[in-house]
Amino acid sequence: MYTKAAAAIKKAGRVAAFTGAGISVESGIPPFRGENGLWTQYDPVFIEINYFHRHRLESWRLIREIFYDFFGKAEPNAAHKALAVMEQKGLLHAVITQNIDNLHQAAGSKIVHEFHGTASTLACLKCRAKYPVSEIGLEELPPVCPGCGNSLKPDFVFFGEPIPEPANSNSIREAEISEVLILIGTSGEVMPAARIPYLAKQKGAVIIEVNIEPTIYTGKLTDIFLPGKATEVMKRLLEMLMPASPAL
Ligand code: NAD
Repeated sequence: MYTKAAAAIKKAGRVAAFTGAGISVESGIPPFRGENGLWTQYDPVFIEINYFHRHRLESWRLIREIFYDFFGKAEPNAAHKALAVMEQKGLLHAVITQNIDNLHQAAGSKIVHEFHGTASTLACLKCRAKYPVSEIGLEELPPVCPGCGNSLKPDFVFFGEPIPEPANSNSIREAEISEVLILIGTSGEVMPAARIPYLAKQKGAVIIEVNIEPTIYTGKLTDIFLPGKATEVMKRLLEMLMPASPAL
């Protein structure tokens, strides 16, 4: 299977990766769903947009605890790094990610379409200005816009919000022109993101899937399933693609 996957990637004119929470699990960030998922500990209502508007301080306290105090300390792992190396060597054109943790960029990936936005910037709800979190700080909650004084919100998609542009259009376009799409650590249960692999498949892409367990894509959409943890599978795949590649 690894030989087949490596051959498909080498042969393709354009390759993209589509990543979900599973790629960051080995960096210490739990997924939302499943046995050890965040939603077994927290009620996700605090990131529903209408709830946030009505209870800003309460929502912000949990957002800071989970997405900044906890997620913020994570480092990219070997799977993020393998994708960055593949991009540098011309074997991968872009990453489409559902994650908001900035770990692809931290690993060195340059073209990253953040389908659900990012936790690393804050956006003003009124004037729409954006600021790096580091510039604003989260010591005082809720953080306010230095420009207009209105509340700031993390720049990732809350339940009830649309997918941001240009990430949405760029992700769709990337899926439609890719000849190989590598799915890593995504369950395919989160809509509308879950449609991306279908768009690629409809245009004839080969679908390679990396996951610790079969998903709704496996057996239906997936051409080559590489079972296992993202770091182990991606290290092995990179060795097949570039036998002399440095250890990650
Ligand atoms: P998901 O679709 O992202 O599912 C996670 C998938 O990862 C599952 O299929 C699981 O089997 C797989 N997985 C778990 N550990 C793995 C590993 N070590 N290697 C490979 N695969 C592994 O669903 P979700 O967690 O419910 O997330 C919902 C949405 O929220 C998604 O858009 C997700 O990207 C986002 N989210 C982002 C982060 C982050 O930014 N790191 C964390 C949690 C959720």
